Amino acid sequence: MTGMLDTDLMHPRDQITMIISRIYNRGLTTTSGGNISVIDENEDIWVTPSAVDKGSLRPSDIVCVKHNGSITGRHKPSSEFPFHRAIYEMRPDIRAVIHAHPPALVSFSIVHEIPNTNIVSQAKYVCGPIGYAPYELPGSEKLGEKIATEFGKEYKAIIMENHGTVVGGYDLVDAFQRFETLEFCARTILFGKTIGTPWYLTDQEIVEFESRMPVVLPEMDQVEHPSDERERRTEICKIVHRACDQDLMISSYGTVSIRWRENDFLITPTNVPRWDLQIGDVVQIKGGRREHGKIPSRATWLHQEIYSRNPAINSIIFTQPPYLMAFGVTHTMLDVRTIPESWIFLQDIPSLPFGIHHLEKNNIPELLSGGNPAVIIRNDAVLVTGDKLLQTFDRLEVAEFSAKSLVMAKPIGQLVPINDQQVEELRRVFLKKST
Ligand SMILES: [Zn+2]
Repeated sequence: MTGMLDTDLMHPRDQITMIISRIYNRGLTTTSGGNISVIDENEDIWVTPSAVDKGSLRPSDIVCVKHNGSITGRHKPSSEFPFHRAIYEMRPDIRAVIHAHPPALVSFSIVHEIPNTNIVSQAKYVCGPIGYAPYELPGSEKLGEKIATEFGKEYKAIIMENHGTVVGGYDLVDAFQRFETLEFCARTILFGKTIGTPWYLTDQEIVEFESRMPVVLPEMDQVEHPSDERERRTEICKIVHRACDQDLMISSYGTVSIRWRENDFLITPTNVPRWDLQIGDVVQIKGGRREHGKIPSRATWLHQEIYSRNPAINSIIFTQPPYLMAFGVTHTMLDVRTIPESWIFLQDIPSLPFGIHHLEKNNIPELLSGGNPAVIIRNDAVLVTGDKLLQTFDRLEVAEFSAKSLVMAKPIGQLVPINDQQVEELRRVFLKKST
């Protein structure tokens, strides 16, 4: 847990420290690599220092480079400060910049390619078109010029040839979301290519998908928050943050809900960065109405259907973990007959066509009543269900671990699955109730 970022009220040095530790803890930068800056209302630039451990950076380590060029702070500004300044000069709309060498984006950078963000629909919107800056000496004014030139073409994210990535945003939350989503695309494509051939959505498919308005439920007049309702809010926030920490969810996508009383439930809102979700953001759905003034997830109607048809399901997670998404984007069957735990927890995971949950409303709820606890929706997400939220989360973890083992096994051989007789034995011993 690295805390919640509030770009309106937190000082730039606190914002930067929080995001650098998030990025470092997720394995997206090294101790010495990467730098972050925020420009404030006086046009002063707050930036990470040069040569200070990214694993233990404190707010007091952040350096301020004033508009007139004077520097305040205990350290020298990052050696890459010239390109941060060049971006701000080129793009007044950009107020925060993140530069790092995250492994999957570096893979693209060293083969001189740009990841295609049409891999899932929200990524194209979050990242925008991606630029490409040719190689220059790190820290040089020339590198600054090349990067600023790309930003001058209206890109907000670029791949740096044989180096890494730079992304900008209207604030640091926006920049982080773009950074994380772009790395997610790169990883999903790489893992996908390990097991098959990724499919990309057409621009048309993305426009149609994203323009579908959420089913806006009517608002309730009065809302009450009894203890058992509050308990579920906290549980949802904890699981969302844990999923972000564990690489199972990214800021730009993910829905979690818990049944409350009968078919009423609590659900994550739409358009709130998942890392920064707070209990007040969670939306209560009661008697088919939504809590006043809040917009629940676009998939709320699906959660409603699932709860009303499946009394045994009490929690749902909808997310995009990169190894599971490798199967989702290559349209490859995820065979969970790998180890007993995987099969017991997941049984078979059906893979459904992109957009199906908007076109055929009965499909997913019916599959779930048939006993499948999880489904993959191609080029979209994985949906996992269960009784307690922690059980659903555990299933999600097991599914992602299984997918990861299958991706990692690919270079050494083909899966030799548990055989039918072994599966029957597992069914007999562990799943007696459902047979
Ligand atoms: Zn660098």
